[in-house]
Amino acid sequence: MHLLNLVHIMQDIATHDSPAALVFGGSRGIGAAIATRLAQEGHAVALTYANRADSANEVVASIEAAGGRALAIEADSADPSAITRAVDTAVQRFGLLSVAVVNAGIYRANPLGAVALEELDQMLAVNVRGVFLAVQAAAANMRDGGRIITIGSNTAIRTGSPGSSVYAMTKAAVATLVSGAALDLAPRGITINNIQPGPIQTDLTAEWTEHLIPRIPLGRMGQSREIAGLAAFLAGADAGYITGASLTADGGFVL
Ligand code: NDP
Repeated sequence: MHLLNLVHIMQDIATHDSPAALVFGGSRGIGAAIATRLAQEGHAVALTYANRADSANEVVASIEAAGGRALAIEADSADPSAITRAVDTAVQRFGLLSVAVVNAGIYRANPLGAVALEELDQMLAVNVRGVFLAVQAAAANMRDGGRIITIGSNTAIRTGSPGSSVYAMTKAAVATLVSGAALDLAPRGITINNIQPGPIQTDLTAEWTEHLIPRIPLGRMGQSREIAGLAAFLAGADAGYITGASLTADGGFVL
């Protein structure tokens, strides 16, 4: 047998011992921080991306440089078949999932009258249908007792800015999906919870930072690692009795 094949087999054996995590939308921002944190907690981490292969590969490289195992998978969450393919690829590489984080989401701001049908459909496809299908596919390929975490938004509670009607609607859908799915998954001991971040410093908020900070009671943007910490808690043993919950981390923005 070729030495390289043997190395891969040994790696696979080692990997199947570490719990597998899949992060949808793990190439940048909050998702990249969550992927990195889950790897630090001992997970073998698969992460999907839509366009930014460069960023996804950087996340993988930094996890590997720290001694972890990671895999980047191109999978547009607007494409149902890409979602199931991503789950299959992750399971093939790292074994049945222990944790799935559905983070992929897009934000387009437009006043009600200016929202074009195409924009509405795209946001629903990624932020709602894509989240549902990712939860469905992950649950079907998850160990009993596993953890599913969605990334919603505090806009589900308080929209906060004009032009956010579609986005807020999609994130409210995620919160209610999670409470419904929790009942379906409970018999398998799988928990599902929803993190609702407020303004977090990422590419998504870059152009609004100055406008947002004065409206945040804690007086600053949140950091992706703070959301990653909450995700790690929900994925860990101490959160075993929490399911169907939406937990808001937004510096007091909704208060
Ligand atoms: P970014 O825009 O910084 O990163 C988005 C990530 O999701 C990237 O990895 C991106 O991949 C991926 N992604 C986007 N669209 C798709 C798609 N169609 N299919 C697969 N992956 C996709 O966003 P944030 O990190 O700021 O946000 C992450 C999540 O948190 C989103 O769901 C967002 O709605 C939510 N959120 C963010 C807040 C904030 O203040 N930042 C506040 C509240 C909620 P690629 O690199 O390939 O583009």
